[in-house]
Amino acid sequence: MVNDQMVNKVKCLIIGSGPAGYTAAIYASRANLAPVLIEGPQLGGQLTTTTEVENFPGYPDGVEPFQMMDDLRRQAERFGTTFVSGIVTKVDFSVSPKKVIVEDEQEYEADAVIIATGASAKYLGIESERTYRGRGVSACATCDGFFYRKKTVAVVGGGDTACEEANYLAGLCEKVYMIVRKPYLRASEIMQQRVLNNPKIEVLFEHNTLQLTGEGKVEGADLIYRKGEPDETIRHIDINGFFLAIGHHPNTEVFKDYVARDPEGFIIVKDNSTQTNIPGVFAAGDCADPHYRQAVVAAGSGAKAAIDADKYIKSL
Ligand code: NDP
Repeated sequence: MVNDQMVNKVKCLIIGSGPAGYTAAIYASRANLAPVLIEGPQLGGQLTTTTEVENFPGYPDGVEPFQMMDDLRRQAERFGTTFVSGIVTKVDFSVSPKKVIVEDEQEYEADAVIIATGASAKYLGIESERTYRGRGVSACATCDGFFYRKKTVAVVGGGDTACEEANYLAGLCEKVYMIVRKPYLRASEIMQQRVLNNPKIEVLFEHNTLQLTGEGKVEGADLIYRKGEPDETIRHIDINGFFLAIGHHPNTEVFKDYVARDPEGFIIVKDNSTQTNIPGVFAAGDCADPHYRQAVVAAGSGAKAAIDADKYIKSL
């Protein structure tokens, strides 16, 4: 139930606190839109689950993700952004101004809404992954790697995230297996080389995970090599930690009754803009980007969303 006295009227509401959301806030506040930014469950977004950002232009020596997010946040604050912590639980985009409800009680009415809710880690979907969640299963090496110092872990996936996590864990652990379903890595050349040249990392190509084993916590994994082929083999590895790095799905569920999405849930935007199918609702960053998923691209689309929102508000 929403308390009438808590309805807040704003010109521009931004949902999400990653590079897209904060950059949208910098631009929207500099355009005098006095934006309110809902920070969501993971302050700073997905980037804060990584170790170091090496490829954001302007940081020749790399930057700690929390530092970078804090810098972006302070920059948005400097120009007048208001921050609200909480999760958006409901929206109504059939009306104008748009309604957005935070934590089922705080209601906002906004002329324009910028969705920048990012994406979350995917899991394999095997039963034992749920059984051991938080007891050896993790989707964030930076968050949980510390618990596996001098132990043996496995990272699932063959993309840039998996390579980055494997390298990070190799700095802490005795041994790191990479469980890769294809006969090759999908990651960029530089990340592949780092993995393949790291003596602590053993890449298990063409392996899939059947189940995790252990007494109350992960102690091993049963893998299958070349499933369905004549040389198919079942193999067991002893591990203490199992890290998922198999991609992400967009955090767009709460908007699904209004905003058009593709079959994977990414918000569909009109060509070369951030405009969704709803006038006044814009999308930026990974929630609308199945391809690039880079902080710098997300930041760029955040700027575009604020410019699109400003233009829309001026046309009202
Ligand atoms: P990707 O989609 O690139 O890779 C996912 C990996 O997981 C692939 O190897 C895929 O295998 C594997 N996978 C997916 N589902 C399963 C499954 N059910 N079982 C086993 N393996 C599975 O995701 P990332 O998160 O690695 O990267 C996403 C984007 O972000 C990319 O564009 C990447 O370049 C970028 N990125 C860039 C970084 C950087 O520049 N420093 C760091 C991190 C990410 P398969 O190949 O067989 O499909």
